[in-house]
Amino acid sequence: MSAEARLRETICRMAASLFDRGLTHSSSGNISVRTEDGGLLVTPTGSSFGRLDPARLSRFDAGGTLIEGDRPTKEMPLHQAFYETRRSAGAVVHLHSCHSVAWSMMPDVDPDDLLPPLTAYSIMQLGRVQLLPFFVPGDPATADAIRGLAGKRSAVMLAHHGPVVAGRDLEAAVNAIEELEATARLAMLTHGHRPRTLQPDQIRAVVTAFDVEWSA
Ligand SMILES: [Zn+2]
Repeated sequence: MSAEARLRETICRMAASLFDRGLTHSSSGNISVRTEDGGLLVTPTGSSFGRLDPARLSRFDAGGTLIEGDRPTKEMPLHQAFYETRRSAGAVVHLHSCHSVAWSMMPDVDPDDLLPPLTAYSIMQLGRVQLLPFFVPGDPATADAIRGLAGKRSAVMLAHHGPVVAGRDLEAAVNAIEELEATARLAMLTHGHRPRTLQPDQIRAVVTAFDVEWSA
């Protein structure tokens, strides 16, 4: 099996796993992954993560032209905005995961640092998560907002919509977006109970030990 055939299978297997665990639902969510030739494989518009067909993934060449497969997700511009601003990005994953969306609606969250510092792993895998305003799905202004971050965030949360995370490869992006949803779930579970959070010196120790991007 070629490297691309294996990558197609991996995208569909990971998407099905996310779907089976309720991390996205209906025809929501999309994935893009860099191919060896500098192109992209992308999940098609209107497709369910539970039932993707490896042969029908949208295939872009290195110049950004669709050369094969179904029409890509309408949220393609926000994927492209990540690749343009983060050279290290090898994959981008977007979900409509329940607790992340719920947490983004809480009145007291900090848009520049959405998740409370509850666990070391959310800091290690996500850095600071940026909350972006509400945009109509597919609105090019979403991509402009991501470009406006100038590559300083690997994870953003689209208000009333869902998280988008870039990683060096598909596994890293999936691991990070799972961490985002798990942390949002913890935040919702403890909201109003005044949980003890990690303290600034503990956060600093994690950031230093794991060389986390932690720009203000
Ligand atoms: Zn979406």
